[in-house]
Amino acid sequence: MRNFFIILIMKILHLILKICGKNGGNFLGKIAYKWNPNIFKYFKVNSPVIAVTATNGKTMTNNAIGYVLKTAGKKVLSNQEGNNMETGILSTILKHCTLTGKIKADFLVFEVDEGYIPVIFKDFPLNTLVVLDFFRDQLDRNGEVETLILKINEFLKTYKNNLILNADDPNVARLGKANPDNKNVYYFSVEKYKYASIEQKEAGEGKFCPFCKTKLEYDYYQYSHIGKFKCPNCGYGNNEIYKLATDVNLNNRTFKIDDITYKIRFNSIYNIYNLTAVIACCNLYNIDTKIIKEALSKFVLNNGRLEEVKINDVPTIINLAKNPTGSNVSLRILNEDDEEKELLFVLNDNLADGLDVSWIWDINFDNLNNVTRIITSGTRAYDIAIRIKTSGFDSNKIEPYLNLSEAVENLYKTNTKKYIIANYTALQPTRKELKL
Ligand SMILES: [Zn+2]
Repeated sequence: MRNFFIILIMKILHLILKICGKNGGNFLGKIAYKWNPNIFKYFKVNSPVIAVTATNGKTMTNNAIGYVLKTAGKKVLSNQEGNNMETGILSTILKHCTLTGKIKADFLVFEVDEGYIPVIFKDFPLNTLVVLDFFRDQLDRNGEVETLILKINEFLKTYKNNLILNADDPNVARLGKANPDNKNVYYFSVEKYKYASIEQKEAGEGKFCPFCKTKLEYDYYQYSHIGKFKCPNCGYGNNEIYKLATDVNLNNRTFKIDDITYKIRFNSIYNIYNLTAVIACCNLYNIDTKIIKEALSKFVLNNGRLEEVKINDVPTIINLAKNPTGSNVSLRILNEDDEEKELLFVLNDNLADGLDVSWIWDINFDNLNNVTRIITSGTRAYDIAIRIKTSGFDSNKIEPYLNLSEAVENLYKTNTKKYIIANYTALQPTRKELKL
């Protein structure tokens, strides 16, 4: 009875918020969870639940899975706007369930913050968990990455449903051994691509075998610590691959899986990993490959995650970067583009960003390819300017502006192609300045 009334009150609140033209974010979930932290048990779910977790790439992968399923004519309930903690997911469910807790959809697809997998799914069914990568991120909120992985590993010890893992991330592939009785572990991988390197170019984690602590040996690195690795002592790293992306061509934006060529709207290795996970997941649910192919040829993100736009006719690529890996991925894309370009880096240190910005020292700014000017902005405009200067970039070509409007105005004084990198709370204000 109690849950019935909680849902009723939330529905009324939702209606009021709607009338006021507000979406409410995770507000409803916050209150409901406070009133009953066990409320997840109350919901009746008859459709598959898919969850995506990672340090980077959750939103894109979650939205792409949802997009493919919708293209296939399925009714999908998903937290597309990125409220990915227990209260955010609860808000999404509360808005769409009946008063008796029934959820009517063909699929439930959620992106879930790494720390909240055990919290939500101890009381809620989960049919497929997709894990993309683990990098150092927002240390002050999550604690060490290792603690996070161990928490998920603990949860997986009794989990027997589909588990889709990135075979090329040693931090992720280890989760496949959490429950030896789980016969539903599926690994995905991407074949060595043109810009893979023998040496690790960017700061990364996961260099030691999680089972015997021996230093891992890499045939190559795709980016950061993602690559073809193995443990010379215990053999960790030798997993049977369920889906392998081959023939990666970033210029044409194509790759192959199972001899089918996928044409996509993105041109980074990082997104090919995400989309390989999407294909693995949709294949497990027998979605027609023609539909997957068609959907992925159209799928884009319009939220500053590798968003490509024209501002005053100037090609502009905007990417969110919350941590060194995200920033390195953006710079990798910039460096793989030979055209002349200018960079705007907007760095804030608000609470949601993590107050400590020392992670910028793990960004690889060396040898930027054909970058003729860098503008920095945000509350830490000067910190990021100094960081870039230290890497050897000509300081006469670095312009810091604390005021974001001024930064954007100066950026578009030339018609050179632009790359924009912004961290978490900097992204939306930047998009707003760009009138997006
Ligand atoms: Zn080992």
